[in-house]
Amino acid sequence: MAIGGIFGRARSRTSDADVGNRPLQIIARDDVPRRLELLDDFEESGLGWFWATDVEGRLVYLSDKAAEQLGKPIQDIIGEPLGSLFSLNPLDEDDAPERPLSFLLSTRAAISDLTVRIANRGRATWWLVSGRPQLDASGAFKGYRGSAKDVTAVYEQQRDASRLSQYDSLTGLANRHRMGKRLGTILTSSQPQKRGCALMMLDLDRFKQVNDTLGHPAGDELLKQVALRLKRVVGPQAEIGRLGGDEFQVILPAFDDREKLGDLASRVIQMISQPYSIDGSRAIIGTSVGIAVAPWHGTESADLVRNADLALYSAKGAGRGQYRFYAPDMKNKAAEHRAVEEDLRDALARGELQLYYQPVVRSSDSVLTGFEALMRWNHPERGSVSPAVFIPVAEETNLISQLGEWALRQACQDAAAWPGRLRIAVNVSANQFSGEGLPAIVASALANSGLDSDRLELEITESVFMGHAEAVDRMFASLKQLGVRLALDDFGTGYSSLGYLRRAPFDKIKIDKSFVRGCTDPTNSNSAIISAVIGLAEALNMETTAEGVEANDELEIMRKTGATYIQGYIFSKPIPNDLVTERLGDGSFQFETAGERKHRAERRTVFRRIVVIHGSQRYDVMMRNISKTGALIEGLSEVPVGTKLVLDLGAGELAPATVRRSDGDSQGVQFDAPLASEGGEVRTGRTRKSRLVLAET
Ligand code: C2E
Ligand code: MG
Ligand code: MG
Repeated sequence: MAIGGIFGRARSRTSDADVGNRPLQIIARDDVPRRLELLDDFEESGLGWFWATDVEGRLVYLSDKAAEQLGKPIQDIIGEPLGSLFSLNPLDEDDAPERPLSFLLSTRAAISDLTVRIANRGRATWWLVSGRPQLDASGAFKGYRGSAKDVTAVYEQQRDASRLSQYDSLTGLANRHRMGKRLGTILTSSQPQKRGCALMMLDLDRFKQVNDTLGHPAGDELLKQVALRLKRVVGPQAEIGRLGGDEFQVILPAFDDREKLGDLASRVIQMISQPYSIDGSRAIIGTSVGIAVAPWHGTESADLVRNADLALYSAKGAGRGQYRFYAPDMKNKAAEHRAVEEDLRDALARGELQLYYQPVVRSSDSVLTGFEALMRWNHPERGSVSPAVFIPVAEETNLISQLGEWALRQACQDAAAWPGRLRIAVNVSANQFSGEGLPAIVASALANSGLDSDRLELEITESVFMGHAEAVDRMFASLKQLGVRLALDDFGTGYSSLGYLRRAPFDKIKIDKSFVRGCTDPTNSNSAIISAVIGLAEALNMETTAEGVEANDELEIMRKTGATYIQGYIFSKPIPNDLVTERLGDGSFQFETAGERKHRAERRTVFRRIVVIHGSQRYDVMMRNISKTGALIEGLSEVPVGTKLVLDLGAGELAPATVRRSDGDSQGVQFDAPLASEGGEVRTGRTRKSRLVLAET
């Protein structure tokens, strides 16, 4: 300890004013009382203390002031080992001094400027300790003599500064720097034991929207809440960090069970997707998760991070709210995703976007009442890109307002040329909904096309409710004033709140296809929930559409539960407008009247969910057609011609078959022996009456 400098600041026996006037009073080396007085003064001042131990390391001297700070009478301290003054078990590892004092003492080495934590129960204090071993004439160790001083303030300052450089000040989570260091340490230390280590990368979905609609302070608050939820879900065994923006990372040491990791990722997604309350506003976001597991997906920290990133990219590309494990082919896909982002900017100008229309049919009598417009992107090289992929990209890059406006205008124009009063439903993204300009755009699309406003239905999802309540209510009011209809899309996915339904003037609720899908399974509650939603909608004077109805049994349940409208492949996939006009014109939307045989054949097909057995695997597929000799199945992709399968037709009927034609996800199979019957329910399909009739105009 640098005692020298302290003397200059210690109280001086001479005064500055007197310098030169009085004779200099030197404290002589042999003036022991005056020197003692000086040392007393120094100890008293608190600038530093002295200590000494005997040969066994027991304290034989400690300055009174030091004892005071320890909060113990000096007589209790004298005789104790020096090491016992200091906390051996600091509260958290970050606070631990790097070199252990007891080790130095036991080696009888000199101690210089060692920071130690004082073992008192109150507020943590820190001393800087120095000391030298004392040797007798023969060179034998006699004990230590040394000094100490309180450096708590400086120490805490330094520690805070180092925390700042390692932790994210907003959420208190580790920052990118610290996460990188931790991952490196864990990977090197876990290698010898061959235990895996998982890395999860998270990116919030729709966070930008919260920032844009509720402001940055709300965005900050949201990030804090996300951090809390993350901590709660992943627990203490993990290290969580925020890398910046809305990117989070989780390190799970000694965690490599894929199934458990998948479960954890699902729980993370589910927890983060629950609504947030921020200053009285509601916010809804989601998250995508990418996972890489060492050593399989990389043993170096940089590789693991890159691969978890690629997995995240792929999860986002698959349409948000999903998790993905890293797979080697993701490298190309990530490059592709970036390319999609770039190409999307020019897609509109290059005329690559197109609207397809899917029929919406009245459930009670199968009358066609309208269509939903669904965007398609015909990419010159990539072919048809799914809106589930490019709409989120468009939302992220703010292209959605352009694309959405184009869709509105195009759909109104197309619909205005259709006969009768068929309705057109257009999807409106939450980003468009939060823009002030939407009512003006809708009004202009209606005026330019001449379409009556009550023929236009805007489909919005619950995520629109995340804006400021008054702004949301104002938007609803302006849209209703234009006379357009409003539908709540994707009801049942994630965060459905009945509160919304009472608040907003919806004309219709669209029950999401994920609910329709399981409704035939008596072991789940989907059909009960659908009935409840339909009951509620009726009470609120709203109509309902069941989306994604594919099979006859699903259709029957939807009819029974009283859904007002049906939309799904069972009637038709989305089709381009020229086909819509053609079918409307030639009456082929009427089942009974003459239409093209091909269309009729398509629609007369039986839709049935069956199981296909291949080796030891069972796959759920859709059977679209069946005869005595073969069937058409959908749902398996790229099955080679010649593959042997067994079709489980239900009721114990198993039919061994061979794939004869294979086209993407549809396969024509030939039964190895012709069926005795024509496949149970099949015949009901042959005699079925028309389901789809053009709306009377
Ligand atoms: P959505 O609005 O819920 O549209 C229904 C989706 O379900 C469509 O997917 C449709 O093709 C599909 N679908 C309909 N019947 C069935 C069925 O029986 N089985 C199955 N498996 N699927 C069925 P698509 O066309 O891929 O669109 C996906 C989503 O992209 C839409 O979901 C919508 O959220 C969004 N989207 C599409 N076009 C637009 C648009 O112009 N603007 C905006 N903002 N979003 C759009
Ligand atoms: Mg929709
Ligand atoms: Mg939907």
